[in-house]
Amino acid sequence: MVIAIDGPAGAGKSTVAGKLAKKLGILHLDTGAMYRAAVLYALDRGCDPADGATADRLAAEIDVTVQSSPDGQRTFLNGRDVSAIMREHRVSKAASDFSAHSSVRLKMAALQRQIAVRVDIILDGRDIGTFVLPDADFKFFLTADIEERARRRTLELKEKGRDVQFADVLREMEERDRNDSSRALAPLKKAEDAIAVDTTRNTADEIVERLAAYIKGKLKTEN
Ligand code: C5P
Repeated sequence: MVIAIDGPAGAGKSTVAGKLAKKLGILHLDTGAMYRAAVLYALDRGCDPADGATADRLAAEIDVTVQSSPDGQRTFLNGRDVSAIMREHRVSKAASDFSAHSSVRLKMAALQRQIAVRVDIILDGRDIGTFVLPDADFKFFLTADIEERARRRTLELKEKGRDVQFADVLREMEERDRNDSSRALAPLKKAEDAIAVDTTRNTADEIVERLAAYIKGKLKTEN
């Protein structure tokens, strides 16, 4: 079984995907983490993530692997555990710039498909239902008001001890959404057959219950 959960930054995708995977007893792949790990390769070399020629050259040298651990996914860039460093604020916008290049996207999508063919899994990202796995068994598109998404992200970063301002997070989020929605290959977009879920007024647990009920209901009517 493959479940695709897409949507903009801060809509709750990773939290919901992680909890839903646990509930269903299947794996969870956070594909945003893969783009974050990939762009570190460019940043470590002092390269501009927005530069296409550089991205095409570097993409061939990048290998991203993941491992499930009790405290969530661990993400490795060419064998190095970058799970903590890739969450830094500076990496978010850089990942969005780097992920706009087709060479980078095709490489990451191939890695994601390789993982998904082997196991029952939930993938969360921006283009899982439209591009990476258009034949996924279930597709959800999570959204929430931009202010609520920025509030959640600010809280999350503050809990991790980061000194961030709501207004800066909001501006960065708007910019990233714009970037992600306007790229040529596999932009952020709801798949026509995805179920739209507005998470603005719900907790992650409530959304998990709703998705789980939908999946169970559908599986029952099919059998
Ligand atoms: O989900 P997260 O905010 O960690 O993703 C970081 C960036 O990676 C996004 O802004 C987006 O540009 C990119 N991304 C993507 N396709 C995915 C997942 C993430 O382009 N499937």
